[in-house]
Amino acid sequence: MTAGKFMGSDVGIYACPTCKVLLRREESVLRCARCSQAYPIRQGIPDFIVQELSRSADPVLRRMRFIDQIAPIYETKLWYPIILNVYGGFHSLSFAQLVSTVAQQIGSTNGRVLDIACGPGTFGRRIASPSREVFGIDISMGMLRQGAAYTAREGIANVHFARARVEALPFEDGLFDATLCCGSLHLFGETVTALREMARTMKPGAILAVFTFTAGRGGVLRYPRIREWMRREHGLHEFDLPEMEHHLTTSGFKDFQPEVSGSILTFCAHKQPA
Ligand SMILES: [Zn+2]
Repeated sequence: MTAGKFMGSDVGIYACPTCKVLLRREESVLRCARCSQAYPIRQGIPDFIVQELSRSADPVLRRMRFIDQIAPIYETKLWYPIILNVYGGFHSLSFAQLVSTVAQQIGSTNGRVLDIACGPGTFGRRIASPSREVFGIDISMGMLRQGAAYTAREGIANVHFARARVEALPFEDGLFDATLCCGSLHLFGETVTALREMARTMKPGAILAVFTFTAGRGGVLRYPRIREWMRREHGLHEFDLPEMEHHLTTSGFKDFQPEVSGSILTFCAHKQPA
């Protein structure tokens, strides 16, 4: 199937996050023929999270209202570059360098790209093209609405947003040519569960491009006490390289190629062939 086939009708690509079968459009919902669950489409954005996250045991999920609120400033100088400096260190990669690193990792791969925890399409919007269709998922409706506003304003047609959790992706198996996971892997409660679900939706040999954090030489993450506090209070896991490679191998990836700048870890890997 060629890229762009779903352009303008992305609803046809979404599957039940539980049953993984394609959903049927019924007025303002997408319905699963197998389990009968209806997923509402809110202002053009399908919502696949039916449980109430604010009561979750996971500290990241409980902070959803805050994440919704910072959406308008997330990509401005007030947020993203500060987070990169504080966590990653002042001499580590800048936001522009990170975008260009991810674009290089993706290289000339075209087709469908899944953008995990996309925020307002921070990375996905910047790599979308007429031959590269981006599907962004995030748990924050505020971020997704901001992303839809940006793409409308910037005239980018090939980016689609849906509210979903990485552990239960609303897509069939083997759909994506590439997957981005930029600035979020360290926040997922179960790293291997998240990576396995990403691998499931990717084609054999498809590329995974990640930016996350490690206990490197820059930023606050070089201090063990701060790492412990971040882990306890904010659910942030920073990875060491052998641990990351092990997680990837366990989840169905190979060719781990890491680069560390300060405490920022960027890497790509490929889904193992079938
Ligand atoms: Zn279902």
